[in-house]
Amino acid sequence: MAKALLLLSGGLDSTLAGKILLEMGVRVEAVNFTSPFCRCTPKSFGCLAARSAADFLGIPVRVLAKGDDYLEVVKHPRHGRGRGMNPCLDCRIYTFRRARELLGETGSDFVATGEVLGQRPMSQRGDAMSLIERESGLAGLVVRPLSARLLPPSLPEQNGWLDRERLLAIQGRSRRDQISLARNYDLNDYPCPAGGCLLTDPEFAARLRDLLEHDPGCDFRAVRLLSLGRHFRLAPDLKAVVGRNQGENLRLEAAAGPGDWLLAPAEEVSGPTVLLCRAAAGAAPDADSDPLAAAGGLLALHCREGRRASGVDLELIPVLSGGSRGGKIVRRGVAPVDSARAEAWRVGRGNGKPGKPGGRSD
Ligand code: SF4
Repeated sequence: MAKALLLLSGGLDSTLAGKILLEMGVRVEAVNFTSPFCRCTPKSFGCLAARSAADFLGIPVRVLAKGDDYLEVVKHPRHGRGRGMNPCLDCRIYTFRRARELLGETGSDFVATGEVLGQRPMSQRGDAMSLIERESGLAGLVVRPLSARLLPPSLPEQNGWLDRERLLAIQGRSRRDQISLARNYDLNDYPCPAGGCLLTDPEFAARLRDLLEHDPGCDFRAVRLLSLGRHFRLAPDLKAVVGRNQGENLRLEAAAGPGDWLLAPAEEVSGPTVLLCRAAAGAAPDADSDPLAAAGGLLALHCREGRRASGVDLELIPVLSGGSRGGKIVRRGVAPVDSARAEAWRVGRGNGKPGKPGGRSD
């Protein structure tokens, strides 16, 4: 009996693809790839969704992280980007390559996906699908059960492992057919029907563009920061991130790395935490630097007490190598920066909060 390695996002389409193959008697194992750009929920809901879909299907799933090599793909896509910073063709090629590497290890004969012809303008056109297969080394070895009858027969169909007549011919952006299939299969709980990739989010994309322009050597730590707080570019190699709530303040404190500064209101004042973070190749700012003073002014601007004529008292803490905290410096009576000046520093000025689901991929 043939075995499929299913790329399982946990969304409706890939779950249905698995169900169709199982009903045809194919053995199925799933793989789910996570990355900091998945926005189903910040706390790895992507993998929970895939696990819950795998439970529904009764198949094993392995959840693997997209590594630093994926960040390089996002930084330097060979096939361009969609409307945001989403390099969908290169992203699919990367994912398919990783899947191809797993074929032997999982004893699978081919890769299956929930892709639907014409559903995404960039990566789910017929020519794009062929290119992705070719460049990932999987030509003929990808089965898309939802659209297979509209596509050239795959090798598993040609070899007689799969009955082409039992595969489907769905195409386009409407999800009517999939929703009706889901009802037939009693599948009621599925997340992200419209995709969930931060790279397609306009505000996140603006922040990422700014990051890559000023810090081309950035790592995933810097990328993860992009969905936290308000961002202000204070110098080419320095950015201040202002927490919007207690949860973000705590996450900014945890994210601080060597060469960064953490700023917080003195105890009697309530206000946000500010992380002044440097680019990978940037020098750590000293205590009297202009950007550090500007970061203090931003913090004061976001404190209610910042409106006082006497300004606010702040604590500045340098982050040392290894992440340990240096000696605290207290600055008294820090005046807020002018709000027009703050707006000029702002990166990704939309009011939207990156990370809210709702956009479409590609
Ligand atoms: S929308 Fe999908 S294919 Fe495009 S970059 Fe994001 S995860 Fe990759």
